[in-house]
Amino acid sequence: MPPPPLVVIGAGLAGLATGCYARLNGYTTRIFEHHSQPGGVVAAWRRGDYLIDGGIHFLIGYRPGQPIYELYRELGIAPTLRAVPMETYVSFLDERSGRALAVTADLDRLEADLKQASPAASAVIAEILEGARRFATHGLGTLEMGRPAELTGPLDRLRSFWAMRHVLRYFSGWYALPVSDYVQRRTGDPWLRWVLPNLFLPEVPLWFILMLLGEMAAGDLALPEGGSRELVELLERRYRDLGGEVHYNTTVAEILVEGERAVGVRLADGTIHRAAAVVSAADGRATLFGMLGGRYLDDQLKMRYQHWPRFRPLVMINFGIRRRFTGEPWLRVLRLARPLRVAGRDVEDLAVRLFNYSDRFAPPGSTVVQASFETKWSFWNDLQAEDRARYDAEKARVAAEVLSRLEPHYPGIGAAVEVTDVATPYTTWRYTLNDRGAFEGWLPTPEALMATMPRTLPGLEGFAMAGQWVVPGGGVPPCLYSGRHAVEILCRRDRRPFR
Ligand SMILES: Cc1cc2nc3c(=O)[nH]c(=O)nc-3n(C[C@H](O)[C@H](O)[C@H](O)COP(=O)(O)OP(=O)(O)OC[C@H]3O[C@@H](n4cnc5c(N)ncnc54)[C@H](O)[C@@H]3O)c2cc1C
Repeated sequence: MPPPPLVVIGAGLAGLATGCYARLNGYTTRIFEHHSQPGGVVAAWRRGDYLIDGGIHFLIGYRPGQPIYELYRELGIAPTLRAVPMETYVSFLDERSGRALAVTADLDRLEADLKQASPAASAVIAEILEGARRFATHGLGTLEMGRPAELTGPLDRLRSFWAMRHVLRYFSGWYALPVSDYVQRRTGDPWLRWVLPNLFLPEVPLWFILMLLGEMAAGDLALPEGGSRELVELLERRYRDLGGEVHYNTTVAEILVEGERAVGVRLADGTIHRAAAVVSAADGRATLFGMLGGRYLDDQLKMRYQHWPRFRPLVMINFGIRRRFTGEPWLRVLRLARPLRVAGRDVEDLAVRLFNYSDRFAPPGSTVVQASFETKWSFWNDLQAEDRARYDAEKARVAAEVLSRLEPHYPGIGAAVEVTDVATPYTTWRYTLNDRGAFEGWLPTPEALMATMPRTLPGLEGFAMAGQWVVPGGGVPPCLYSGRHAVEILCRRDRRPFR
């Protein structure tokens, strides 16, 4: 009888990367995926002639010569995937004041535009832009993401400090504060107080923003022309070409343990699959508290799952529009003059994404327009459970409201709608089983970003984790690396050299 395979739970980016590296290292592999298709939160779906992309916005490090590009190459993504360099990160428009700002890769222009809009905050703006330029030259995103804590020692830590020496000072003081705190303390300027926290999330440390701006200025951010779909297809193809096996519509209910060693999985339909080892690249809470019954947690892990905030879930409204949007910014944050009332809360800001940089999302002459905002999990989850008709009606109401708010910015848009699609946090959960519809894992707070997440569990052999619940902040490269790390850990256990 052949030896049992390595079982991987989840065919998101991390699960597929785990599968690829496991195959490259000679393991027989079997991935079980809950959904009918790969990708996890990197989701894309067809609606009529339109390809709706509910996943990634941009790729980091997609430039030949960067260590991350090598990772993409190993995983069959580069060089096939075509990407458009990102010249503008986002454009802001405040309906209340009429003020606008384009956050461009040209940092000199960005500095001038910011100073013109907020002259009283010139010193703070100069400080921020100086940091961004520093990261542009000595970027972090282009550094190889080391190795998992389980396999590193003091020498590795010294090496990574050395690699980061030019930007080390940005990890302390003002720069380590959440952006929302930083602006409160450093400037009274209302425009900066709105723009800076909305460059990513208000909770991220300022250095994270400097890093993003720096990466963009260095030309390391790119928009994938084929969107999330092509990224996932290439990765899945690489896994299959390496001889990997994947089963869709297959949900793992339990990780089987014998003598403190993971020996297989039980599926939701009751089937048992023996395994040489198990890697979970699925939701962290479901893995630890559900599939493993909460038996292998130390105090630190318990504390994190109890207290650390997750990414807030989203409502995402997509329209297939019979119109082109040439010259319009691909991503705009709109501050609404009149908030939208959704899930018992006022929605003040809308992120509006135009898929106008590629012809792969819509038929000729047409465009997908996507609006999204943060919302409350319990509202949507309860509504769909209690009254499906009201849930559908609420989705339709929100879509109509949002469309009317877009009309002044894109006149005629309402009359050109061919397709409408609304995804709620419940949709995210249904297709990914991600904790309370979070669209990524841990919120990248200063604490979470600096923490080391173990990939293995105390007292459990033959098990490792990969994915966004072991790399706080998530993101494509960290999740792909985490798959590689899981395989490195298994190779060490099995005394095989990692290739
Ligand atoms: C809207 C959006 C925008 C983003 N933008 C960017 C961006 O611009 N740049 C960037 O780098 N990153 C971005 N990200 C983040 C990045 O896409 C994610 O961090 C990453 O894809 C997470 O991958 P993962 O494999 O760890 O998790 P997931 O994608 O959640 O995959 C987990 C998989 O496990 C499966 N699963 C769960 N439970 C079970 C079970 N019991 N049995 C079997 N299968 C199970 C799920 O169905 C899922 O397929 C974005 C994410 C979203 C949603």
